[in-house]
Amino acid sequence: MKFCSQCASPISIKIPADDSRERHVCDSCGVIHYFNPRNVVGSIPVYRDQILLCRRAIEPRHGFWTLPAGFMELGESTTTGAARETQEEAGAIVQIGPLYSLLNVPHAEQVHLFYLATMSSPDFHAGEESLEVALFDEKDIPWSDIAFPTVKQTLEWFFADRTAGVFNSSKEFSVRSRDILPTEKI
Ligand code: ZN
Repeated sequence: MKFCSQCASPISIKIPADDSRERHVCDSCGVIHYFNPRNVVGSIPVYRDQILLCRRAIEPRHGFWTLPAGFMELGESTTTGAARETQEEAGAIVQIGPLYSLLNVPHAEQVHLFYLATMSSPDFHAGEESLEVALFDEKDIPWSDIAFPTVKQTLEWFFADRTAGVFNSSKEFSVRSRDILPTEKI
């Protein structure tokens, strides 16, 4: 940010009084512009034993596979956002279930949240941001062509938990969570 969105005057980077971090402060009207991490919300759409993945039609990671996910919009909840992204990118209506994974991506200034989701029918189609959408058995997951570390980690947790019977037990499972390191490239 170079200019104030309130008054269009130049911005300076400085530590305001009663603060401990550098902020974008307007030289003219004094407004402090805060920047905070953004939430990326998505789903793990399950139909019978298969998982729905989208192949990206947009950068970054054009041509790579991902779970349907995207930035939350103002005024919506995380679950509403996850369902909306799934409909937009994969053309699938899902029933959003429990929160499954939470991944901090500090270097990208993002937090990624993935919800378990069920599809009542194998109805889906590629949205504008997808080249193709397909249901995958575990053995067919394109591991070397997954778009993002958060998606790869979520899928690894999911299949390990499913194999261990975590989703069949009546016990509550706890949300899977970790931080993604800047060095984690796929
Ligand atoms: Zn200003």
